[in-house]
Amino acid sequence: MTEKCGVVGISLDGRAAARPLYYALYALQHRGQESAGIVTHDGFQQHSHVEMGLVGDAFGLDDLETLNGSAGIGHVRYPTAGSVDTSCAQPFSVSFKSGSLGLSHNGNLVNADEIRDELAGKGHAFTSDGDTEVIAHDLARNLLEEDLIRAVKRTMQRIHGSYALTITHDDTVLGVRDPQGNRPLCIGKLEDGYVLASESAAIDTLDGELVRDVRPGELVVLHDDGQGFDSYQLIETESTAHCFFEHVYFARPDSVIDGSLVYEVRRELGRKLWEESGVETDVVMPVPDSGRAFASGYAEAAGETTADGEPRDEDDEGVEFAEGLMKNRYVGRTFIMPTQDERERAVRLKLNPIRSTVEGKTVTLIDDSIVRGTTSTQLVQLLKDSGAEEVHMRIGAPPIVAPCYMGIDMATREELIAADKSVEEIRDEIAADSLAYLSTDAVADALESDRADLCLGCVTGEYPYDIDGEETDREVSRPEIDQSPVHADD
Ligand code: AMP
Repeated sequence: MTEKCGVVGISLDGRAAARPLYYALYALQHRGQESAGIVTHDGFQQHSHVEMGLVGDAFGLDDLETLNGSAGIGHVRYPTAGSVDTSCAQPFSVSFKSGSLGLSHNGNLVNADEIRDELAGKGHAFTSDGDTEVIAHDLARNLLEEDLIRAVKRTMQRIHGSYALTITHDDTVLGVRDPQGNRPLCIGKLEDGYVLASESAAIDTLDGELVRDVRPGELVVLHDDGQGFDSYQLIETESTAHCFFEHVYFARPDSVIDGSLVYEVRRELGRKLWEESGVETDVVMPVPDSGRAFASGYAEAAGETTADGEPRDEDDEGVEFAEGLMKNRYVGRTFIMPTQDERERAVRLKLNPIRSTVEGKTVTLIDDSIVRGTTSTQLVQLLKDSGAEEVHMRIGAPPIVAPCYMGIDMATREELIAADKSVEEIRDEIAADSLAYLSTDAVADALESDRADLCLGCVTGEYPYDIDGEETDREVSRPEIDQSPVHADD
């Protein structure tokens, strides 16, 4: 199950955590629109409210008032095509002999089935097919035998895949990031407490201050009195596997992830796109909103040098930047539409050109990525119908050639336009006058990262985790899970 979500955890000095959690979920709404939930603990009892829908629809005032306690976690879940299932909505909450647990998970485990089979064989009853419940059961079992820190470590040694977790164990709030740091998670300081969140924009919303990212393989335990946190580096790895697509598409531009401001990275990617494949046209325009920061960086670089890399003459005005496509804000992301026909209609519902910016002009259209090719095909057609003489597509990421197993709901290999087509074949299919993507090296450069420290699975087809039927780009292996039957005296 691929889950691309937002998580948060808060521990305050006496003040109820429900409202700040609710505001933080609003700030993370772009990470998931299918369901929203909060679990709190008041020192005696766990409270939970999880519902389908957007944050604003899932909670009423009354709901927030029943969520007592100054410690809690929250979750927004992304709609995955097909199964829309309340049993997978989060946070997952459960009470065991070892206490109450609440769990919010962003990411995707590769070996959840193996662990589920093993735990089911030992008598654990599962209520969903999600991997979050597998983590909860594993942790609960370990907590029967060990203290909290050791129990988390043992679970981390058994699960393989991507995870950024916020957890409540009674009224203690924890944050965990997988040993390769695939999905983001950061720590923020509030006036009267601490917060853990997928993105720093959630910390800003609470008027807090970003302290730092949770390190890959680190467990952070917030103090119950909101006065600080403890850090435990439970697993060390030589290299990380940060998801580059967070910076390209998924995260908010105003978030700082793994040390870089997403907006600046996108602008830098845009600048590199001009340097690598700039084309002189009358106007440059972004696909709103995903291409906006890329197009601004691209146009800025285009104002400094020509497409051949020469400095521009003083009287050369360069390329005009125009917001030529207007977006209807009330239409959700096109991916929510399960059928191709609906997706095509959604693009038309969502975007409308401003004729005067395109009529009789040569246009460069900038977007962050091409997945199935639906958006680009429709937009090239739309701009030509509105009188554009030429439409050149420039894409701020490399071709997406393989699916994401690590938590971004992308598409299957069959659906990905670049899985089996060359750039020229794609150009032909989307009917653009020219098409160019950004190189993988430019992505690593813009992120100021070594290629080996990034997850580039969707653009290389080689993954940083051990996934059935796929190649890996490093030495990784799944932990052995003992499936031997249990005996009465076990
Ligand atoms: P497509 O129309 O299938 O080629 O999708 C490309 C468009 O979808 C671009 O405008 C992207 O900004 C956007 N996009 C890229 N990745 C995703 C994703 N995982 N979920 C939703 N939209 C996406």
